[in-house]
Amino acid sequence: MKILVINCGSSSLKYQLIESKDGNVLAKGLAERIGINDSLLTHNANGEKIKIKKDMKDHKDAIKLVLDALVNSDYGVIKDMSEIDAVGHRVVHGGEYFTSSVLINDDVLKAITDCIELAPLHNPANIEGIKACKQIMPDVPMVAVFDTAFHQTMPDYAYLYPIPYEYYTKYKIRRYGFHGTSHKYVSQRAAEILNKPIESLKIITCHLGNGSSIAAVKNGKSVDTSMGFTPLEGLAMGTRSGSIDPSIISYLMEKENITAEEVVNILNKKSGVYGISGISSDFRDLEDAAFKNGNKRAQLALNVFAYRVKKTIGSYAAAMGGVDVIVFTAGIGENGPEVREFILDGLEFLGFKLDKDKNNVRGKEAIISTADSKVYVMVVPTNEEYMIAKDTEKIVESIK
Ligand code: AMP
Repeated sequence: MKILVINCGSSSLKYQLIESKDGNVLAKGLAERIGINDSLLTHNANGEKIKIKKDMKDHKDAIKLVLDALVNSDYGVIKDMSEIDAVGHRVVHGGEYFTSSVLINDDVLKAITDCIELAPLHNPANIEGIKACKQIMPDVPMVAVFDTAFHQTMPDYAYLYPIPYEYYTKYKIRRYGFHGTSHKYVSQRAAEILNKPIESLKIITCHLGNGSSIAAVKNGKSVDTSMGFTPLEGLAMGTRSGSIDPSIISYLMEKENITAEEVVNILNKKSGVYGISGISSDFRDLEDAAFKNGNKRAQLALNVFAYRVKKTIGSYAAAMGGVDVIVFTAGIGENGPEVREFILDGLEFLGFKLDKDKNNVRGKEAIISTADSKVYVMVVPTNEEYMIAKDTEKIVESIK
């Protein structure tokens, strides 16, 4: 099947046209500055990168432009729109409604709309994308794939916050977790590479990128993850603080004479390794500053980051009663041998031995523990788009 995978942001739209049987990416691209001036579509196909400058007043315009690019006689990859068998939409928040991907119908769209209050920055854009595709391709089946769905298997004692229970029943305040599509993909892929049934494995998946989260995946199911009600909880991230004492919020409001919203903005955009280092949220910049220039705050930022990852890996081994596989993925997890070594240093009691030569790998699937290691350590590049395409294919096949 040819599946169009769509990932909408408030002013952007990422797409990939994927041949689902082998994961071959026929074309991919990005529409930027939707609804703003100077909108731009960058389309990659057949080894070429084409930039198309055209006004896109909304997501519908953007989808139209994407479809035009896909069927273009010079740089297109299909002859006609009818070659697109299905569309898979990334949707950030599915609340407690969705435990897996679903075929989109009116009820599903309503439930995604109900989740807007849980993800006010993300779900509205996802809905825009779905509505735009429905208008332009009314007969093409569409599937929603949720960032939260994989973590819906968390037990209640892992997802409940110890606050008055009525806030859970009244306002749905609980831990949801994010990056689910990535954690699901890399855990399944790790089991495949090891040629072991995922139902027999305890896997800790470390998605370390600009946003970072870790999941405990026991017998193929997520039983805990570090992000919570929003993607702000958990690890120290590029610009996000991760978990902090909530009392800091009212304290800062008073000291700095700012609103709660302003504090939360600081915690989302000015904190994390950027906030500590004062230099950058990008790990390449931090490593250069720390190791080449001896910058102490960059070093401290890396220490704080690695320490939280280390503690979380240890706690998830405790949560699952052991661990068989530790997987690293996303920008830093896939491309940072030094960071991986730094995180794992001191965790050997879990039962792995890191092979420093094998760890010297970037962006490729690899087992980086020694051959006699009891616990496997692996690098598995994430591929959320492929996972979305596979889920979409499965659901569309099942309704045929
Ligand atoms: P992502 O959000 O998954 O795209 O990851 C972005 C993060 O990955 C940024 O902090 C980058 O600095 C980091 N990253 C990408 N390539 C490398 C690399 N070669 N070494 C270290 N970090 C990297």
